[in-house]
Amino acid sequence: MILYRDQLVERTEIHIDIEDRGYQFGDGVYEVIRVYHQQPFYLDAHLERLKRSAEAIEINLPYGFNQLKVKLAELVAQNQLVQGNVYLQVTRGVASRTHHFPVKSEPILVAYTQQNDRPIQALNKGVHTVTTEDIRWLRCDIKSLNLLGAVLAKQKAVQQHAHEAILVREGVVTEGSSTNLFIVENGQLLTHPANHLILHGITRQIVISIAEDLQIPVKETHFSKEQLYQADECFITSTTMEVCPVIQVDDREIGRGQPGKITRKLQNAFYQLIS
Ligand code: PMP
Repeated sequence: MILYRDQLVERTEIHIDIEDRGYQFGDGVYEVIRVYHQQPFYLDAHLERLKRSAEAIEINLPYGFNQLKVKLAELVAQNQLVQGNVYLQVTRGVASRTHHFPVKSEPILVAYTQQNDRPIQALNKGVHTVTTEDIRWLRCDIKSLNLLGAVLAKQKAVQQHAHEAILVREGVVTEGSSTNLFIVENGQLLTHPANHLILHGITRQIVISIAEDLQIPVKETHFSKEQLYQADECFITSTTMEVCPVIQVDDREIGRGQPGKITRKLQNAFYQLIS
């Protein structure tokens, strides 16, 4: 079953209009929410971010948080989802094709579940990455359906047999194509400030607060590709990748090609949260 507007229906019953603005313009916003033990993880934070993204592009969410939470709980229960993701998107709706906002259109919400396991091998061994120019627009803080910049970057990574593309804008490392990025330098965590150039990741925020609890200093600051190459440790974070060690960037090994100690501490603390 999927959630279409405020109804749970069979996926095959739903047809998306060819003039849905999400389909034609990427005119909408989305969230990916992790489900552990049948429970959505940090659901409030995801809904708050969905609301912020929608407001930034002047879409009114069609349902309040309470109603949405009830519907999402029904969606998870109906699909007997124990571990996996909920994908949720809201588009500006259907209207005759013009670039500007239509005078009348009703936002359309769709959500569905995907069963999948935690990425255990990547979490244990770490992943390879490549750097590439960050060619995305200047509102990366909006979780918009327009993902071509990320799609092209990730494709480049896959073609080079890497797991993630690390984006660099004017010499500054911003984030991964679908992850936030941290390095460890002299015992301190560095990550790009949460401004318009990155998505304000929920996992990023969780990691920052775990680090504070563990008295690991965190600095939200710019750092260069050279600093990334020279980092003692590096890891990426996201709802689906959790806290994942990076052991190679381009042709440079990070931390002698092994996940670092601070990364492991943060992974363990994160694991406590989801257990
Ligand atoms: N940055 C980008 C560009 C992303 O697409 C994502 C995944 N949504 C993240 C960071 C990580 O965000 P979160 O921890 O909220 O999944």
